[in-house]
Amino acid sequence: MRVLSGIQPTGRFHWGNYFGAIRQYIALQQAAEEPTGRAFYFLADLHALTTIRGEPEVLRQHTRDAALDLLALGLDPNKATLFRQSDVPEVTELFWALLTVTQMHLLDKGHSYKEKKARGLPADAGLYTYPILQAADILLYDSDTVPVGADQVQHIEITRDLAERFNHIYSADVLVPPKAYVLDDSAKVIGLDGEKMSKSYGNTIEIFETPKRLKKKCNSIVTDSLTVEDVKEPEGDNVFTMYKLFADESQRAELAAKYRAGGMGYGEAKKALINAATEYFAPAWERRADWEARPDDVEDVLQAGAKQARAVGGAVLDRVRVACGLSARR
Ligand code: ATP
Ligand code: MG
Repeated sequence: MRVLSGIQPTGRFHWGNYFGAIRQYIALQQAAEEPTGRAFYFLADLHALTTIRGEPEVLRQHTRDAALDLLALGLDPNKATLFRQSDVPEVTELFWALLTVTQMHLLDKGHSYKEKKARGLPADAGLYTYPILQAADILLYDSDTVPVGADQVQHIEITRDLAERFNHIYSADVLVPPKAYVLDDSAKVIGLDGEKMSKSYGNTIEIFETPKRLKKKCNSIVTDSLTVEDVKEPEGDNVFTMYKLFADESQRAELAAKYRAGGMGYGEAKKALINAATEYFAPAWERRADWEARPDDVEDVLQAGAKQARAVGGAVLDRVRVACGLSARR
């Protein structure tokens, strides 16, 4: 099994990113371990250029933070390959080969582009062709399993279509059509306002929030206006919904009972949430501090990852070059 996924370093990761994606990547790195295959995870800095432009230091910092966060959260470089997208130039070459077989109507349907245009935001050719770079990311490594949220399944379908079209045009099995592995979306995490947690909505709680900021953010979670004495219903309450992410069955039952007994205010429930989240991420904080003290080792991990990725990707690109009639000598 060749698992592949990329994550954009466009800001610090939040609880939604963790429960919706990162936690599941880390579980998959075991399943994909050699000799049957390997998980490839990359920091999608080329994709990030469609949103972070003219701020090189910001992009560099986000990329460094993303690497540290993933390592801290349990990505194991001995099991999975971690690399920066821009360290593998093969991907942009495959991107071009794919662009030449892409029909425009495929791109007109892409929903990141459509959504941005609908919101009146300036959209450029980078955003328009984003699904093709994503296809190159996947196809470059003969990936067969691509873990994505349900909203990304359409992009994997585009990748399958492109691989099949390419193979058809060149009458050979050059590219491997991948399958989407739909992540558990019961893991859809709500934000401070009860809507889906998302950077663009400004309602996030970051994984590595300082204790002070964590407290401030949790205290701003929207609740109804019942008083301390009132009996409360835990299900549907934002604080309780978030608490469930971190708590086991018995802890959930205990807090639910307090809601229903009356005499407990939301302030106390928020404290329980803060404590549970702090305890949950404590080992990750330790690992993060450890990696942070060794920036050269982090860079070594990324360089070793890029080397592995280029070895696999280079062989696939050679197949493409030969099939297309390009120079077979790179
Ligand atoms: P943006 O607002 O730029 O879309 P985001 O905060 O939604 O950013 P993404 O970069 O879109 O984050 O998502 C990265 C990964 O995290 C994706 O796999 C996505 O499905 C997952 N994810 C993001 N937000 C949530 C959430 N609230 N619940 C579960 N999964 C999430
Ligand atoms: Mg999103």
